[in-house]
Amino acid sequence: MGLTLSAAALVIVSFLTLDAKLTPELLPQAQPVEKGGYIKWAEFDVPDSAMKKAMKLDIESCEEPLHLDWLEMLGYLGAKYGGEWKRYKAKDMDALVQRLRGGESMSALTADMKYYDYYHEVYQTVLGEFVGYYDMERESDVLPGETFVETQYGLKVFSPIASGYSYSHYDDFGTSRSYGYSRPHLGNDLVGSIGTPIVAVEGGTIEHMGWNQYGGWRIGILSFDKKRYYYYAHLRQKHPYHLGLEEGMAVNAGDVIGYLGMTGYSTKEGANNMTVPHLHLGMQLIFDDSQIEGNGEIWIDMYDIVSFLSQKKSKTVKDEATKDYNRIYQIYDPDYQDYITAEEGGASPPGESEAHS
Ligand SMILES: [Zn+2]
Repeated sequence: MGLTLSAAALVIVSFLTLDAKLTPELLPQAQPVEKGGYIKWAEFDVPDSAMKKAMKLDIESCEEPLHLDWLEMLGYLGAKYGGEWKRYKAKDMDALVQRLRGGESMSALTADMKYYDYYHEVYQTVLGEFVGYYDMERESDVLPGETFVETQYGLKVFSPIASGYSYSHYDDFGTSRSYGYSRPHLGNDLVGSIGTPIVAVEGGTIEHMGWNQYGGWRIGILSFDKKRYYYYAHLRQKHPYHLGLEEGMAVNAGDVIGYLGMTGYSTKEGANNMTVPHLHLGMQLIFDDSQIEGNGEIWIDMYDIVSFLSQKKSKTVKDEATKDYNRIYQIYDPDYQDYITAEEGGASPPGESEAHS
């Protein structure tokens, strides 16, 4: 997945990128929302500030009669701007909220927006599992050292960098890379210290793990709904992964999966050929099985998503015996439990054995 992008794929990618920058009215009719079809191309340019504002409105209204759905609001604004989020102003979201609270329905407001369904589906595919009800352990306020499981509504995915570790990044999506062949950078690089615990942004199953000449020690995790493939690369030379992980296993959002390093750019396993230690994080969208590998692959810009995720970090603690870091507070995801039940007899994931009860 995304590891053997051919030169032919690059031609198509750049053509489609140009295409997607046209205003919605100029998009080819057959492209985005044909009935029974699937989305062939998408970009993700929603700024961190818009995601935060929309999510806050969604969370604050989650128990109210009028629940403001953040993805519907982002879909509305995406359609209004024709995907040109440079035009975003917070007051546009305020105006939308005012109309919704004034009694207008989203379906009425978007009735004449030809590409609302397209943008809504794209944002639903990227962010659909980011916010919702979830069960997670937390520290008791009254009994020090005691934890209990609480159902919360909010952000249920994590920054890839564990709590307490710093990193820096900038929007480097699409910039040129030359190792092997000339190609665009399909992710975001988070520069940090070697050994920083890397956690799974979202839960899912490990599809790929091991050496790749581009990504070095890398791990690829497919979300449980099979719509997002997360790619974490250039992990540490020695002890790159959390012990016990292997392909086919499931992980939870916030589980430690590996450690930041600088491996890659070599056919020789374990080569430390990055100039700066960093995590490469990529996200691939899968609207149809034909997009899993090859010319149809869709990778999105993760820069604003990484900034957005930095508000939720997994706390970890080192196990001196194994030298591994483990999460402190468990999350309980029904999709994960379903997977484990279906895979009866499979190996236990990391952290499960020390889950508090
Ligand atoms: Zn990178």
